[in-house]
Amino acid sequence: MNLKINFDIYLELEKIRNGTFKPLDGFILEEDFYSVSKNMRLNNGKLFPIPVLLPITKELFKNLKINSELILFYNNKKVGSILVKSIFQVDLSKHKKNLFGTNDTKHPGYQLLKKMGNYFAGGPINSFFPADYKYSNYSISPSECKRKIKKFGLKSVAGFQTRNVPHRAHEYIIFNALKEVDGVLVHPLVGRKKKGDFVPAAVIKSYEYLIKEVYEKNKIILAALTTYMRYAGPREAIFHALIRKNFGCTHFLVGRDHAGVGGYYGLYDAQKLCLKFEAELNIKIIKVRGPFYCSNCKKITNDKFCKDIKSKVEVSGTKIRNALLNKKKIEDIFMRKEIVTLLKNEKIFLQ
Ligand SMILES: [Zn+2]
Repeated sequence: MNLKINFDIYLELEKIRNGTFKPLDGFILEEDFYSVSKNMRLNNGKLFPIPVLLPITKELFKNLKINSELILFYNNKKVGSILVKSIFQVDLSKHKKNLFGTNDTKHPGYQLLKKMGNYFAGGPINSFFPADYKYSNYSISPSECKRKIKKFGLKSVAGFQTRNVPHRAHEYIIFNALKEVDGVLVHPLVGRKKKGDFVPAAVIKSYEYLIKEVYEKNKIILAALTTYMRYAGPREAIFHALIRKNFGCTHFLVGRDHAGVGGYYGLYDAQKLCLKFEAELNIKIIKVRGPFYCSNCKKITNDKFCKDIKSKVEVSGTKIRNALLNKKKIEDIFMRKEIVTLLKNEKIFLQ
């Protein structure tokens, strides 16, 4: 039987297929769904915190057969198929507390999830025919990334998750990481995000500028992680760490309120959860101390190096975004002027 899938699901298919979501090797089965929701583990016990679901129609739910092939179409093109091993119905509203730590139906991650409906099919991927899409050339596979790491001669690499245009605090985080590791995988998430987030071109072009002009050669690998934000906070931080492990990273940078949204999670919850699973993730977690501008030291620093709380000026992405929107001046101490110019030249830089 056939199923039309949307872009988000196409990207899930691609990520399962190319090993980005390892140890997951197919769309999630019913028993795995419950296990992931409850314990952040697949039914076989392996750590995996996010349910990667394939929503189907009610019609298919009634007529699909176990062990049959379900052919997937995206944009009227056959993009692959799965071997159906599970056909199930779930009331996703019963899982929002587990998955998002809240019963609030307004949680943006839950809002996205519930749009999937109630009917799902799961099973391993039988065939895959990649589709071209905007930024697909930036979306390298884990094996391509590992080849690059080898080519650059990097023995240790820290994964850096971002969805923002780099301001001075981001630059500082990467510079600091490079004191600890040989290289950094700058891996901006490119996929459906909230309104008001930066568009991928703005994020990618800004990093391309930094790589060309600022960072030492062959230290930074830039690739797009084409998947959507789930806003699952600490759980998603574990997911992001697993993904970077699959991409050959030895370290992973976890920021404050990583993958968070609107104050649903504690500022340090994601760091704490990642540290708890550090051994099992087999990746070293680097806790990012929120860098700030010190008006006394006259530079970006963090609380390890400067205790002068009175001179602390927050480098706020939100403020910079608003200043850009309102065409106000952004000081070079907060965002490099070349990047500001670059953004001004992009007619559309926000979603
Ligand atoms: Zn200071």
